[in-house]
Amino acid sequence: MPFRFLIVGAGFSGSVLARELVDHLDCFVEIREERNHIAGNCHTYVDEETGITVHHYGPHIFNTDKKEIWDYFNRYSELRHYVHRVKAWHDGKVYSLPINISTLNQFFENTFTPESAREFLNTLGDHSILHAGNFEEQAIRLLGEKLYKAFFYGYTKKQWGCEPRLLPASILKRLPIRFDYNDNYHNNPYTGIPVNGYTDFVSNLLNHRRIKVILNKKFQNNSDELSSSYDHIFYTGSIDSFFNYEHGRLSYRTLRFEKEIHEGDFQGCPQINYCDENIPFTRITEHKYFTPWKKFNKTVIFKEYSSEAENGNNLFYPKRLKADKDLLSVYREKAGQLKNISFLGRLGTYRYLDMQHVIEESMGFAKLFVECLKTDSPVPVFPNRE
Ligand code: UDP
Repeated sequence: MPFRFLIVGAGFSGSVLARELVDHLDCFVEIREERNHIAGNCHTYVDEETGITVHHYGPHIFNTDKKEIWDYFNRYSELRHYVHRVKAWHDGKVYSLPINISTLNQFFENTFTPESAREFLNTLGDHSILHAGNFEEQAIRLLGEKLYKAFFYGYTKKQWGCEPRLLPASILKRLPIRFDYNDNYHNNPYTGIPVNGYTDFVSNLLNHRRIKVILNKKFQNNSDELSSSYDHIFYTGSIDSFFNYEHGRLSYRTLRFEKEIHEGDFQGCPQINYCDENIPFTRITEHKYFTPWKKFNKTVIFKEYSSEAENGNNLFYPKRLKADKDLLSVYREKAGQLKNISFLGRLGTYRYLDMQHVIEESMGFAKLFVECLKTDSPVPVFPNRE
């Protein structure tokens, strides 16, 4: 008898898992999605008026240091090399990001060499902070007060809705500091955009006769669902929602996008971050720039506003404040007592994961799951330790 699995959520984690399971096991997979589309927050569509591929939930640039992850994506949908270049707006001026020699030259009205830039930044950083325990300490230790205030403090406060000293240092570590003129936003060698959009990648993953996709259907955590005849359930929704928030809600940020269509070009680059607190949005993205190999007469832009997620909002960024981590432990412990269920993905594990991490983790978890079935060992509830 083939196994029967239920996967809740047709985002990257659920979809990669579904495909890996049917490719490596004799099984049927039902993948259930509460929204009316697949691909989760990576969903893309072609805007009718302009013909431009829009990243519906904000900009997604695929980047990885692992060739096998790049190749995996390309097996299902073609990625084209693309370098993301972002600008920062501060106090009426536009600067280069991530911080590089160009940014320093402009900000300090100087002409640095790689060596003098390094020495100068060394004089700005606060070395009395030996171990940076949070975002703010990490920034001041590396960059000093002035650069931190100009490019990080306001943006981060708007983006996360709290003082940056309450946030983990790991968030800042996402952004490199460069002592050359390289303004590639990402450090990874493989960086690209899918020629046909991210939804095409997910659609091709799910295009298999033993995968059934059901849209517009929410998973209800009740005895009917749990006792139905699935051999295993993989849940990629938020872990607190699985438990009907019985111990409270994990905090997330949600985003709102204001769309505008213009003739020609709007801002001349794919993304400008607005780093000052007095400008209410965090960034403006101009999506035609994500496919520079195509030409368009019009342009579509989105102003991005961040706020605290409430009931029914789409979830984007897990905040992981102290109280959240405590609550997460409670839910993880409860989850550990369940049988035949696993939690995966950004929401299921409550981590700030990128697409490449999600793909890798889902592939690894599918492999582990197959091993567990073969050796009759217990299946882990989570792919990670906290
Ligand atoms: N950040 C900032 N200023 C910027 C860009 C980023 O302060 O101009 C901080 C901010 O806290 C943000 C984090 O760095 O949440 C990570 O930025 P990234 O661009 O990686 O965020 P994402 O694209 O995932 O929203």
